[in-house]
Amino acid sequence: MKTIIVVGNGMVGYKFCEKFVAQAAHTEYKLIVFGEEPRVAYDRVHLSEFFEDGDAERLSLAPRSWYEENGIELYTSERVTEIRRTAKTITTSKDGTFTYDYLVLATGSVPFVPPINGVEKNGVFVYRTIEDLEDTLAYAATIKGGKAAILGGGLLGLEAAKAVMDMGLEPHVVEFAPKLMPRQLDSRSSKVLQVKLESMGIHIHLSKATNRILGNGKISGMEFGEDDALDVDMLVISAGIRPRDELGKSAGLEMGTRGGIVVNNKMETSDPNILAIGEVALYNQMIYGLVAPGYEMAQVAVDQILDKKDTVMAAAIDMSTKLKLIGVDVASFGVPFMPADKGHSIIFENKTESLYKRINVTHDGKKLLGGILVGDADDYNMLLQMYQNEMPLPEHPEALIIGGRGEGGASFGSAMDLPDTAVVCSCEAVTKGAICCSVLEDGNENLKAVAKATKAATGCGGCKPMVTDLITESLKTLGKTVKVQICEHFDYSRQELFDIVRLRGIQSYDELLDTVGKGHGCEVCKPAVAAIFASIYNETANKQNTIQDTNDRFLANIQRNGTYSVVPRVAGGEITPKQLMAMGRIAQKYDLYTKITGGQRIDMFGAKLHELPLIWEELIKEGFETGQAYGKSLRTVKSCVGSTWCRYGMDESVSFAVEIENRYKGIRSPHKFKGGVSGCIRECAEARGKDFGFIAVEGGWNVYVGGNGGANPKHALLLAEKVDKATAIKYVDRFIMFYIKTALPLQRTAPWLEKLEGGITYLQNVIINDSLGICAELDTEMQALVDSYKCEWKEAVETPEIRERYTHFVNSEETDNNIEFVSLREQKMPKEWA
Ligand SMILES: Cc1cc2nc3c(=O)[nH]c(=O)nc-3n(C[C@H](O)[C@H](O)[C@H](O)COP(=O)(O)OP(=O)(O)OC[C@H]3O[C@@H](n4cnc5c(N)ncnc54)[C@H](O)[C@@H]3O)c2cc1C
Ligand code: SF4
Ligand code: SF4
Repeated sequence: MKTIIVVGNGMVGYKFCEKFVAQAAHTEYKLIVFGEEPRVAYDRVHLSEFFEDGDAERLSLAPRSWYEENGIELYTSERVTEIRRTAKTITTSKDGTFTYDYLVLATGSVPFVPPINGVEKNGVFVYRTIEDLEDTLAYAATIKGGKAAILGGGLLGLEAAKAVMDMGLEPHVVEFAPKLMPRQLDSRSSKVLQVKLESMGIHIHLSKATNRILGNGKISGMEFGEDDALDVDMLVISAGIRPRDELGKSAGLEMGTRGGIVVNNKMETSDPNILAIGEVALYNQMIYGLVAPGYEMAQVAVDQILDKKDTVMAAAIDMSTKLKLIGVDVASFGVPFMPADKGHSIIFENKTESLYKRINVTHDGKKLLGGILVGDADDYNMLLQMYQNEMPLPEHPEALIIGGRGEGGASFGSAMDLPDTAVVCSCEAVTKGAICCSVLEDGNENLKAVAKATKAATGCGGCKPMVTDLITESLKTLGKTVKVQICEHFDYSRQELFDIVRLRGIQSYDELLDTVGKGHGCEVCKPAVAAIFASIYNETANKQNTIQDTNDRFLANIQRNGTYSVVPRVAGGEITPKQLMAMGRIAQKYDLYTKITGGQRIDMFGAKLHELPLIWEELIKEGFETGQAYGKSLRTVKSCVGSTWCRYGMDESVSFAVEIENRYKGIRSPHKFKGGVSGCIRECAEARGKDFGFIAVEGGWNVYVGGNGGANPKHALLLAEKVDKATAIKYVDRFIMFYIKTALPLQRTAPWLEKLEGGITYLQNVIINDSLGICAELDTEMQALVDSYKCEWKEAVETPEIRERYTHFVNSEETDNNIEFVSLREQKMPKEWA
């Protein structure tokens, strides 16, 4: 029997074992594994989840018993210290000597700690192992509420920033480059990400070279240059990785000039009996800091040892990544930055919503070469498939990136349109065919079961949405339906959670989590549940403030320079000269940029955080209310002047718009929604471009629903014809309530209606013919919402604890004077981004 010794029981070392014992021929070999860490291999990619419950066991890739059951001899807390190549033996830290036929080096990497003066001080940590996290947590407990810096604004640095924020510390990311995630993002997308992260309370310091760590024994600050320093109580270093190649070096294996053990496409080192895989292996002159290439290397090493010589490493390694950073989707795939001679880029950017999408296509627009997504990466998997499979693009490739975020979806086919051979999970090389087969033939009906059977979605997890889509679609072909679970913290759909909250009378997020959830929650379920509470109890966003979206937390939209906008309600666009003058006076007093919006109201831009309650106090005195321009709630009801002034008008559109805007104001929903009222079919108010719209016709009002403007316009569909005003309102009441109860989080009415089986006819049956017998309930629920409205800005200015949120710096009255403006046509505007 031959012996294989695996050095390193990390993610890739474990994967090698798993793949090896899956082969029939494995019985002819003895596997011995050495791991220096005290525990069995665990999921380092999801390391941060350790903070959720401190349960390291949960992250284990397999229990210790698995190694025994598979005849693997496992030694943990035992480091391999030397390789004697001629004798084919290794020595360990516990003085053991073992002989091998094949040696597999899977020693991974360590965080790179730059040689900065003072880096050895107490309070300086790295972020790689469970022990690192335990040490960091213990130290954080001694500096409660203090400041923590993260050195490195790359992928792992930002993850560490989120971790320190969760420890209750104020996070400061310090990056040497002039942008965040320099390897994955271009300058514009990086800026979008930066603004979003800053709005969440993460301080970002770019173009900073750290010269010295300050402090006497323990860290008290970081010095960047003359007169440039940052006071911090803790530092987490995340400045890249270095391969753990010391064993290879001392054994005289060929090494890369900057480290790493050189391997060929069979994973062989310069000694054919020694293979190297994972982050220690230098393949094509690169160290790949991702699991997917490591897993592929493990497969190649297994096959090579078992004489399946055809399996070799692909020449080009896909470095596509998708991750959720503190609730912000970030993804890059293929060639994210592209030289102009290779093709051209199509870019969609919406700074207000922190969205950036870029695709790079060939000059003829036929092939996708790569791209970047920030703020919304729902389309990542489909774009990745198009890129990997060189699928032909639609006639107008820009359609691939406009839309999304529930605004109508991009113009993709379904995941089912992919060829069976398309690799959906690149970490585990699982194809679409294998996933569908697992559902259709093996009877696996949910993500957990399919993942267990195929291993899909068990690596970095980036493919989870697409695997879920494939399961859903496959089940549909069997005539079965599946629920869309809101996130991993609740095994329920949004609709089910809605019913649970309502029926059990649950009053807070924590109560809901304790009753039917698990873990600590996340950025997906928290705002979704906040919206559910709001829809059921008509709670303002001031309550349960910590689970609200950032804009809701401050009751204002953050703008591109970190200032906020102020938007009072101007129902139906009707405003008196007295109100206009009051607004003008207040805008002038606080030096705000004013602009009339498409929603027929007046936006005032450039307010600093601490000014918001002062401005609102004055506005409220003048009779204004919040316009909820920040909320997932009713925005405006736009109207034309109608029969009041227009000679074509069939009815009074302004009065109707004012009435309806006041009726639905303050109601929170899965996404924002808007209305419109036109006095005749000339449609000056563009009511058919709104979520609901009324158009006056001969004999009554036509009622339309499910329209959208925005990036992916959709005309609303006719729900009812020539009805009187009371009936029109009744139908729209029910429509809104039904949407609130059944839509997915962040799904606007147009895609919701599109996905509703039976479409508009079904909807007509539900809300006109009461086919589900729920109309009375919908009517009562809507009336309760209408009756319990209160202006949340009034509540905020009158409540001292809420007002406290509007100080720039905790424990300080100081304001932020770093915000810069320039003048523009007699007003001010934000200084252009660098
Ligand atoms: C916080 C964090 C988040 C990440 N997120 C992602 C992500 O989203 N997507 C992604 O693709 N990748 C991610 N990664 C990277 C991913 O974890 C690595 O690519 C992967 O763990 C590499 O596996 P490996 O086995 O090569 O190295 P490791 O997992 O580091 O394992 C190497 C093991 O070998 C041991 N060892 C070293 N020398 C010896 C010796 N001489 N004797 C015995 N044992 C030894 C080490 O102690 C270690 O346990 C993340 C990493 C971190 C730290
Ligand atoms: S269309 Fe809307 S999102 Fe786009 S720039 Fe104008 S205001 Fe901003
Ligand atoms: S929609 Fe008709 S009623 Fe309204 S302003 Fe236009 S023409 Fe006049």
